[in-house]
Amino acid sequence: MHRFHYAGADLHCESVDLAAIARLYGTPTYVYSAGTMADNYRRLLAAFGALDVRICYAAKANSNLAVLRHFANLGAGFDLVSGGEIRRVLAAGANVETSVFAGVGKTEDEIALALENGIHAFHVESEPELARINHVAGKRGVAAPVAFRINPDVDALTHAKITTGKSDSKFGIPLRQAVAAYEAAAKLKHIRLRGVQMHIGSQLTAAAPFAAAVEKLLPLVARLQADHGIEYFSIGGGLGIVYEDALASGAADWWESRPEDRRPLTPEAYGAALGPLLEPLGLKILLEPGRFLTGNAGVLLTRVEHLKRGAGRNFLVVDAAMNDLVRPAMYGSHHECVPLHRDSSRRALVADIVGPVCETGDCFGRDRRLQEVGEGELLAFMSAGAYGFAMAGRYNSRPLPAEVLVQGSAFEQVNARETFEQMTAGEKIPAFLQ
Ligand SMILES: *Cc1c(COP(=O)(O)O)cnc(C)c1O
Repeated sequence: MHRFHYAGADLHCESVDLAAIARLYGTPTYVYSAGTMADNYRRLLAAFGALDVRICYAAKANSNLAVLRHFANLGAGFDLVSGGEIRRVLAAGANVETSVFAGVGKTEDEIALALENGIHAFHVESEPELARINHVAGKRGVAAPVAFRINPDVDALTHAKITTGKSDSKFGIPLRQAVAAYEAAAKLKHIRLRGVQMHIGSQLTAAAPFAAAVEKLLPLVARLQADHGIEYFSIGGGLGIVYEDALASGAADWWESRPEDRRPLTPEAYGAALGPLLEPLGLKILLEPGRFLTGNAGVLLTRVEHLKRGAGRNFLVVDAAMNDLVRPAMYGSHHECVPLHRDSSRRALVADIVGPVCETGDCFGRDRRLQEVGEGELLAFMSAGAYGFAMAGRYNSRPLPAEVLVQGSAFEQVNARETFEQMTAGEKIPAFLQ
């Protein structure tokens, strides 16, 4: 569920008319609903009942400082994957003492930064990485808290680019090497074993792969608890969201109207499948959701440039492009596109929705059906709050888009559209060309 809805004919985010935001800040602009993020956070926590659960929001999904601060205020820690993300959490006025640091290629500087700021644990992906962490911690005269990421070798049944729990992926260490890895790590002077971790992929729409992975790891986790006194088991992120019917899925009755086996994975079903498996461990459980917390809490506003009637094909050219929202071009992802002003008296239009970038891949959707719209009218791409702005770039020298956060009837721009001067600030003409 989410808080984007039509009030009369106009699409609102919470109590704010999205067209007003587009008029004030221009387009393309991302708009996020703080209320939806809070709802998602609380609903996921509640789904695990009395279990000792901490949510570490995967900051890479949407790392705007305001979003990070909002989750810190809600009580979240963070799942961080770079020094830049550590610095973002600090810049947002939060600390990283309840956060974890993941990723296969942590540099010495990033490890030092995490130690300096009291990271809760490093999620270690290989033995050479562990040796590096031990070395950096040794130089500082401290012991680094770590958990190994274990690859359970299960198929997450999701897009190939975001499946991470198969044995042929670059992530984690194989289950059969886990005991030996912990034993070797226990002998290192500057390492302290704190937990165990898994993360099998993103945009999972069924609970079964999560449950299969947890079940595979349970005997190991119990053994590490006995042998090494570990404190927590992180089961990663990956909970999927609704893309195809995104607007309608905002309403509770949309979920209830669907037969149970055709309902996308809910946090309640996720909690019900995993809670009973985890409870007997008596360990703290970490969750690392990214997409689930922010995905349906954001839209990308765009303006129609032209309706171009081609040979047997219509092209709706909009002012957002693949540099602003790359998921369709990169993963073939679906983002529902809806008008900000709904007018049922208009004829239907079937068109490809495309951006201005000089690439055929710059297409948000083929043969989309929507009401007829013309130049200057506004549209929203739904479910764009995760891996939207976070993956935006400047291809075609297009500036990074603006971001706005809404809470109730309040809203503020939380990231101004990039200027040309900012875009080129680090560039110069070398002396030998002058
Ligand atoms: C990306 C990532 C997550 C978050 O994944 P979502 O699908 O956005 O929930 C969590 N943990 C790790 C280690 C990740 O790399």
